[in-house]
Formats: sequence, C-alpha cells, structure tokens
Amino acid sequence: MPLDSFNREINYLRISIIDNCNLRCVYCMPLQGLQFLPKPELLTAHEIERVVRAALDAGFKKFRLTGGEPTLRADLLEIVERLANLAGVHDLSLTTNAMLLPKLARPLRDAGLKRINVHLDSLDPATVERQMRWGSFERVWEGIMAAERAGLVPIKLNSVVAAGYNEADVVDLARLTLERNWHVRFIELMPLGGGECASLSIKRYVSNIETRRRIEAALGPLLELEACNVSDEARNYRLAHARGVIGFISPVSEPYCGTCNRMRLTADGKFHLCLLNDDELDVRKALRAGDADGGVGQVTRILSRAVRMKPTGHHLLEGRSTRERSMFQLGG
Ligand code: SAM
Ligand code: SF4
Repeated sequence: MPLDSFNREINYLRISIIDNCNLRCVYCMPLQGLQFLPKPELLTAHEIERVVRAALDAGFKKFRLTGGEPTLRADLLEIVERLANLAGVHDLSLTTNAMLLPKLARPLRDAGLKRINVHLDSLDPATVERQMRWGSFERVWEGIMAAERAGLVPIKLNSVVAAGYNEADVVDLARLTLERNWHVRFIELMPLGGGECASLSIKRYVSNIETRRRIEAALGPLLELEACNVSDEARNYRLAHARGVIGFISPVSEPYCGTCNRMRLTADGKFHLCLLNDDELDVRKALRAGDADGGVGQVTRILSRAVRMKPTGHHLLEGRSTRERSMFQLGG
C-alpha cells in the first residue's frame, strides 16, 4: 500500500498524454503565446504502459487519462487498449471536452475504457462559445450522448463556474440530475491557467457555497450523500426525487489535501507530486535508459520516492498555485 509521509494512501494516477487542446477555455488556455511539447518529448504508448505497470507494482489501483485534450492523441485507442489489458487495471477513465466523442465513444469502449468525465460549463450554446472558446454546445452534447449509448457510464459532467460567464447556468446543469442518472459536478476556479487566464481565474472566482445556494434557491434543498470513498474530491448531494448526483469540488473554499490520493504523470514524463505545487521527479530518462527490465524496476523506485515526497497544503487563498505548469499541462 503506497503511503506518503502524511500517511495518505496514494493509489490514483492521473496520466496526461498531451498538452495541446482543440478548445481554449477562458480560464485554462490563452489564445496566444502557447507552445506545445514536440512529439519526441511525449511519452509513447509503450512508455505509458511501462509506467502503469510500475504503478500497479507499487499498489496503484485507479487510472485516468487526461490532457490538454486526450482525444487529440492519434494513438489514444492503442493507449487505452494497452492499459485496459493489464491485470489489476479495474478502473480506467478519461477526462475530455467530448468534442471528438461522436466518433470515438464506441471505439474507446471497445478498447476497454470504462467511463468518462466530460467538461461542459453551460447548457446555453452562447455561453459555451464564450467560455469554452472554439467549442460548440451541440458538438459536446452529441459527444455525451454517444458516450452514454456506448456505455461509458456513469456520465460525469464537470463544470467550472466563472463569474460573469456561467454562474447563473448552474441551475440548468443541476436540473439535469432530475431526469438523468448523471453526476453533475461544480468546480471552483483555480489560478492555474496559462498566461492571462490565471489572473482571470482570481477575478472570476465563485465559491461553491454561493453555487450551492443558487441551486437550492431554484430547485429546493440538497440532501447530502454519504461518501462511498474518502478520497472523493467531490462532496455529493441529491435533489429530492432526482436520479442523478450533484457534486461540489471546492479546492479553494474547502481544501481536501488531507484525503488526497493522487499522483500525476505529465505528458513529457514527470511525476508531478501535487496539482498545486511545482515538485516533480523525472521518469522519462529512466524509461529511455534501456535497462534490462525495460526500466520498470527503476520507474517503481522513482514512483515510490515521488509518493514519499508528496507535499500537502496550497496557497490558493493567496492567489498562488504552480509557477512552472498550467492546468492544460497537468490535466486537472
Ligand atoms: N480537456 C479536458 C477537459 O477539459 O476535461 C481534460 C483536461 S482539463 C485541464 C481537466 C479539467 O480541468 C476540466 O474539467 C477543466 O474544467 C478543469 N480546469 C481547467 N482549468 C481550470 C481552472 N483554472 N480551475 C479549475 N478547473 C480548471
Ligand atoms: Fe482544453 Fe480542457 Fe483546458 Fe478547456 S479545460 S482549454 S477543454 S484542456
């Protein structure tokens, strides 16, 4: 069992497979000045598989692919297939903006993917275009429907709430749970965007206390659900007679560092120890050193060190997060 120095069990690896994206959400990616990793710097499908083998050896249980936008990786199906076929990988999911799911949902399911989290900030097409720039509500919705038909369930929607953009749209998003067995989760903005996006996130921050109040004023009281998993970053609720769940992810107003179970792997092969701090350990060098065991033993040792060194605490309330990396380079 991989325990860190704060006695937290670290058993969940979030794997970023690309830093590029087909959208430019206002709080995440600036429209100009971006530079993406050249292909030779990205871990290959085979290298990602070797890291996951090492993580399984170290006791990791849960894996998620993310980005940037992971569906832009031409070898995404190969990556999913390689990981899904490893003994011990029971929980493999993907975080996506769903734009490419109309054609990818079924092949992803066939490759062994279990479920997806879709990022959608509003049900209003004009707000989606303004907030998720380059995106279209119709496309994302079509992607969600394709995912549901393909059995990538339960569907979890992630919505980042930003003042002056979608703070009133949370009611319609929450209302979806009355009829659909989905999880609709509201995420507080963090100053983790690239370029000017970080300062926008500070100015546009909306506390989940306010989001919850807004939902309850329109739809009635939310009944808290018992946590099935102590490391769930969301506090979960249900509206009376609803089929689905409403979750609040509140890293700013209600930090959950004490129950964090996550380690991150960046697309260029670094273990990033905490979303909101800069500490990293390089693993790509070991993978490319060509040891007899394909580097897996060495990778397991680096991962064990990463777990031991994992920090706790953050500086979001002072408006600070990472200096070196932005959210699209970490994957959320
Ligand atoms: N492109 C995919 C997507 O949007 O779901 C995966 C990567 S994205 C970086 C992962 C998650 O990070 C998304 O749910 C997105 O809403 C969230 N996110 C991005 N920038 C954020 C910010 N500044 N604060 C809070 N969440 C953010
Ligand atoms: Fe792309 Fe996701 Fe960032 Fe939006 S939040 S710009 S979809 S990586």
